[in-house]
Amino acid sequence: MTDRTTLRSLLAEHWKLARTLRRLEIHFYPERCTGVWECYEVCPVECWAPDYEHHVVVFHHGERCIACGACVLQCPEGAIKLELPNG
Ligand code: SF4
Ligand code: SF4
Repeated sequence: MTDRTTLRSLLAEHWKLARTLRRLEIHFYPERCTGVWECYEVCPVECWAPDYEHHVVVFHHGERCIACGACVLQCPEGAIKLELPNG
């Protein structure tokens, strides 16, 4: 395989992955949430807001989400997932 062919094939793989990642969206399972606020603290675009009264978090700015995955990695309860729509 020539260098040019390798590069073309790597780019094709990259674009395919980028297209998939852009379609991911947050799925929040509030029944698992124990209100530790990790998601609220790590989200770079303030998608999450603490509900202190009910000791849960609210996903209130979904349109801002850049699918960075930080909240998914930080949640100790598995209450947040990044999935394809209806996935
Ligand atoms: S994936 Fe990133 S941007 Fe989206 S809600 Fe979680 S922390 Fe915020
Ligand atoms: S990190 Fe998980 S358990 Fe903690 S507030 Fe966010 S969703 Fe709830």
